[in-house]
Amino acid sequence: MEIPFLTLDIQHRRVRDEVLGCVESLYDGGRYILGSAVERFETEYALFSGTRHCAGVGNGLDALYLALAALGVGPGDEVIVPSNTYVATWLAVSRAGATIVPVEPDPATFNLDPEGVEAAITGRTRVILPVHMFGRACPMAAIMQIAGRHGLHVVEDNAQAHGAVCDGRRTGGIGHVNATSFYPTKNLGALGDAGAVTTDDDAAADAVRTLRNYGSDRKGYSRLVGVNSRLDELQAGILSVKLAHLERWNLERRRIAGWYDERLRDVAGLTLPAAAPGDGHVHHLYVVRTRARDRLQRHLAEGGIGTMVHYPVPPHLQEAYRDLGYRVGDFPIAEELADTSLSLPMFLGMTEAQVQTVAGHVVEFVEKGG
Ligand SMILES: *Cc1c(COP(=O)(O)O)cnc(C)c1O
Repeated sequence: MEIPFLTLDIQHRRVRDEVLGCVESLYDGGRYILGSAVERFETEYALFSGTRHCAGVGNGLDALYLALAALGVGPGDEVIVPSNTYVATWLAVSRAGATIVPVEPDPATFNLDPEGVEAAITGRTRVILPVHMFGRACPMAAIMQIAGRHGLHVVEDNAQAHGAVCDGRRTGGIGHVNATSFYPTKNLGALGDAGAVTTDDDAAADAVRTLRNYGSDRKGYSRLVGVNSRLDELQAGILSVKLAHLERWNLERRRIAGWYDERLRDVAGLTLPAAAPGDGHVHHLYVVRTRARDRLQRHLAEGGIGTMVHYPVPPHLQEAYRDLGYRVGDFPIAEELADTSLSLPMFLGMTEAQVQTVAGHVVEFVEKGG
């Protein structure tokens, strides 16, 4: 029995009628850009995030860029980012024209280490950009305290953690101006590209709404050098349908992670995702670590089990960032995570028997001498 790394089939079967009903009514409604479906989703997602505003945009990378642009971040400014994040986080800073200042994560949580953040602050630092890696909330209280002490803004990258909770508040609603992605495989996913910025800051929300639409807030007049990055009506309608299911779906992810935890807890040489307090983990991915990563991945593939590596090359070693002059060894924790991490199958509808099968193959690998 093959087990894919990920399938959206089961999730999509569950909401098929609701989604198709919504698409049909938008199709007939005849308004496809910045209409009532976007407004409705923005209201719902702001409520969900605990923020006054949500502005829907074209994708997660644009959301990050527009959040930075709304804060006036540009050339000469420094933005602190994790050394082990998905490259999109770095690309947003590059696009704003600002300087990337990578900080190493806590290897146990994959998330930014507040001490490292504080040590990286200079007179030019403007923004701290924590990423809630794989669905686990960053230590936001410490990060917000550091930002407050130094007069900095915090931009959360919440692309992987819709619904995660930190000290009683949802991620994406803690930093000053926050970005998220609704790429199809995220915990809340559209059927195409989509993203959003969430914030309590009236001026920043207004700036994002203007920038996403050619810098125009009145038809025919552009007041900022904007972009075209609007959330479209169809995606917004689909996201509203799915948002109503998100909390239940996150509980399901937690249950699947629990099944893995039970079965893999005592496997020698395997590091499991660190437990998070409260609802602090929504298990976008279930990432284990082992020195024998490549061989374990091959063993699982031979057993018909799909896995992925998030991410095989840390941003500082990507060809795109060759000009920054980084070398192997510059961010040893990010490099170690890239070499040892393996994402096991995790998807809505995954059964306990499937988890048992995956775990069985992992245990078999270890027992054969790993
Ligand atoms: C998916 C993702 C993004 C980018 O989102 P897109 O919608 O694909 O542009 C940014 N940051 C992180 C951490 C992500 O996982």
